[in-house]
Amino acid sequence: MNTNKIIIIGAGLSGLMIAYLLQKKGFEITILEANTRIGGRIETVTGSSGATVEMGATWFSNPHQNLIALLNEFKIPYFKQHTQGISLFETMSFVPPQKFEISDNEESSFRIVGGTSQLIKKLVEEVGIQNIKTATKVIAIEEIDNNVELTDSNGVKYAAEKVISTLPPHLLVQTIGFKPTLPDTMQRLAKRTHTWMGESIKFAVEYQRPFWREKHYSGTLYSQASIIQEMYDHSTADNQGFALKGFLNGGTYTLSQEERQEKVIQQLAKLFGTQASNYIAYHERLWRKEPLTFFPYENLVMGHENNGHAEYRNSFFDNKFYISGSETASVNPGYMEGAIVAAKNIASQF
Ligand SMILES: Cc1cc2nc3c(=O)[nH]c(=O)nc-3n(C[C@H](O)[C@H](O)[C@H](O)COP(=O)(O)OP(=O)(O)OC[C@H]3O[C@@H](n4cnc5c(N)ncnc54)[C@H](O)[C@@H]3O)c2cc1C
Repeated sequence: MNTNKIIIIGAGLSGLMIAYLLQKKGFEITILEANTRIGGRIETVTGSSGATVEMGATWFSNPHQNLIALLNEFKIPYFKQHTQGISLFETMSFVPPQKFEISDNEESSFRIVGGTSQLIKKLVEEVGIQNIKTATKVIAIEEIDNNVELTDSNGVKYAAEKVISTLPPHLLVQTIGFKPTLPDTMQRLAKRTHTWMGESIKFAVEYQRPFWREKHYSGTLYSQASIIQEMYDHSTADNQGFALKGFLNGGTYTLSQEERQEKVIQQLAKLFGTQASNYIAYHERLWRKEPLTFFPYENLVMGHENNGHAEYRNSFFDNKFYISGSETASVNPGYMEGAIVAAKNIASQF
């Protein structure tokens, strides 16, 4: 058995940030991550044209001061979301879309230059890849005397003085067995705690040229009528890679990828002209099909329900087990900002 001082479960933004902060305080940490990929709900894919497309977290804004401070500390540049030009709002499929323009004075949202994964890459560099064990899915957590023992899906056991979970709370209680069991109140709460964006479908279409900009469109679209519900220009900061990116109607997860792709291109061609059909690549990610993010709810749970609940400030197993992760944050839970706030809160207790 490997014995560790502190084990963090999950190498998403929260887990990496907790590791970074605790290492600065002199603690030895190990992160166990189920996936072969690090980053959790942050995943930037580089398309064949060089466009970096976000399959997970993308935007932040001025209220997200902890995230902005971290980007500044790491000297990671960010840029304003492109919104200039005509934006569209489709209310019904049989009437032309309404047109509107977003004023430059409105609160901007920002994107990270090179993609959100730049932040993950930097944190991994700081924490040390040797301290992150990927392809290690924790399936059981047991309190044994002064330690917490974890078991992974290969039956390998790890002991630690303290363990911090960064799994979305609902996923934690549905996929990991506890001995002794967590209090009923916590189990009930976690089962009713929404995992932000867990049901979402992200798509992106890469193009050779930003033809929509050339036609004075911003690329922003809101629709209640077609498969694309929300979309934005997703070109790179240096305007070398061009893409449109957004969210599809969540109900279309039952279609095949080919069916969704065809409907997306049809909608884009209808709104922006036939150039939309001449694309380089289509990307999509169905987060509800990602078992390391989403687990079906027993009852209806609304977006952000119970996010940041005060019960998540409690520790378990006599201060040996903690529940963290973005959904537990007291401020901006569910978002990248929340992941950092939650990490800072846990680190302050050590
Ligand atoms: C499509 C989408 C769009 C989003 N857009 C935005 C946005 O624009 N702006 C914003 O601020 N936020 C956005 N978010 C939310 C943001 O991604 C999250 O708030 C943040 O990344 C959460 O980080 P986390 O570390 O708390 O959780 P996660 O990233 O979920 O990390 C949990 C980690 O635990 C791992 N894990 C799961 N089970 C186990 C196990 N049994 N054993 C070991 N490891 C395990 C997972 O693989 C994962 O790496 C978006 C999310 C999605 C999915």
